[in-house]
Amino acid sequence: MTAIIHWFRRDLRLGDNTALHAACRASREVIPVFIFDPAVLRAPEMGAPRVAFLLECLQSLRKNIEAAGGRLILREGDPWAVLRKLGQETGATTLYFNRDCEPRARERDALVEKQARASGWEVRSFKDDVIHEGDEILKADGKPYVVFTPYAKVWRSRPRSEPWPVVKFSSIPDIRIESQTVPTLTGLGFTLEADVPAGGEREGRRLLKQFAEGPLFTYRTRRDFPAMEGSSRLSPHLALGTVSPRTVLAAVDRARLTHPSQSAEIDVFVGEIIWREFYRQVLWHYPHAAAGCFRPQYDALAWENKDKHFAAWCAGRTGFPIVDAAMRQLNQTGWMHNRLRMIVAMFLTKDLLVNWQWGERYFMQKLVDADQASNNGGWQWSAGTGTDAAPYFRIFNPNSQAAKFDPEGKFIARFVPEADSLSYMAPIVDHAQQRVKALELYRRGRVG
Ligand SMILES: Cc1cc2nc3c(=O)[nH]c(=O)nc-3n(C[C@H](O)[C@H](O)[C@H](O)COP(=O)(O)OP(=O)(O)OC[C@H]3O[C@@H](n4cnc5c(N)ncnc54)[C@H](O)[C@@H]3O)c2cc1C
Repeated sequence: MTAIIHWFRRDLRLGDNTALHAACRASREVIPVFIFDPAVLRAPEMGAPRVAFLLECLQSLRKNIEAAGGRLILREGDPWAVLRKLGQETGATTLYFNRDCEPRARERDALVEKQARASGWEVRSFKDDVIHEGDEILKADGKPYVVFTPYAKVWRSRPRSEPWPVVKFSSIPDIRIESQTVPTLTGLGFTLEADVPAGGEREGRRLLKQFAEGPLFTYRTRRDFPAMEGSSRLSPHLALGTVSPRTVLAAVDRARLTHPSQSAEIDVFVGEIIWREFYRQVLWHYPHAAAGCFRPQYDALAWENKDKHFAAWCAGRTGFPIVDAAMRQLNQTGWMHNRLRMIVAMFLTKDLLVNWQWGERYFMQKLVDADQASNNGGWQWSAGTGTDAAPYFRIFNPNSQAAKFDPEGKFIARFVPEADSLSYMAPIVDHAQQRVKALELYRRGRVG
């Protein structure tokens, strides 16, 4: 029996982990490794909240592996160089990992696979991060869906895979295999300014349990109100894989059995998990969307891109209370409510006339749940440049949105306590005027 290297990436858990499960069934010697890839860590969109969360998840994973009698190997460097060396040290020539939909990750994985195979290794990759992968849900003509509703209909009609049963995880706890300790955030060159949530597999499961026992049953009714704790807060866990979508949906199914009358509320939550998968398959089939507009006719839009407007938006100092409260929530906590993400994204693009890609990058740097597929999808939806996007002429009025979704101003008061006082700043733009300008910008700038 030969040892198998399990390469952890965005699947930082022992439970219900497809590649790890397969590795443990195939061999009693599994070598778990996580690689700090400088190319990923130094990328301009990498931010302290996400890295802080990652480090905490790694600490938790390390402890869980040690509790199972193994040892997590942590190394830094180019992935194939690290894996090849690890193979030389341990004799392992088999590599398992879970697939990732992000274009750069796919390129990296293809290269590693090619190099490993050229060296005589066996390489197996697995579907894990989604229920249905890119090629599994296609239209009758074999093309991918670019509209959510029909995609979701097919998604819901397909049988779903269940969580993997627990298998005994046994690895080589050989202390001679060199491993780094989990680095510190400052050691990696990041400074944390936000108060980010706790990471780790146990915390992910705790959040899921808490959500599935209560807020799930009122999800549809409460999820749109930022002053309420109406959503699951599972996004950072789903982004780094401390909880799997299979485990989430299994908990949802159990809750549905005990609360059949709440099925409509539950369906809306499942719909959000489907949005996550929808955007993943978009990026899988259309990797160009990571670098520009999904609809290229919008690439030529003449954004105003005023630095002072962008800086005011980032700092939560626009004079629009709901926008400022939302941006301060992001800066202070590393998370932002979904309704607010849509409001601030529309505001940046259609009130401040700043390119959506500036906002996309800022979100990646500040969000603890930063996830390229969902973030890019959400931004392109809001900017009207994406697949199933809000049409460009649909423009939220931030004050009406506030009146509708924060009617008592409770959320605003939490982050912008000065909003009702005379000391609060005047709006930096006039919404009605900017709306006219935005419509003109889109009308004129669209090519084709
Ligand atoms: C401009 C913009 C940027 C966004 N950036 C990200 C991002 O970087 N990372 C991220 O995980 N989500 C992103 N979202 C989607 C959504 O806002 C968050 O997933 C959600 O707010 C997370 O909170 P929750 O876990 O409590 O969600 P819940 O409402 O409890 O939903 C459960 C899960 O479903 C998924 N989900 C929910 N809504 C969406 C959605 N609209 N699109 C895709 N997946 C969804 C998430 O994984 C979430 O954890 C973005 C949305 C917009 C409009």
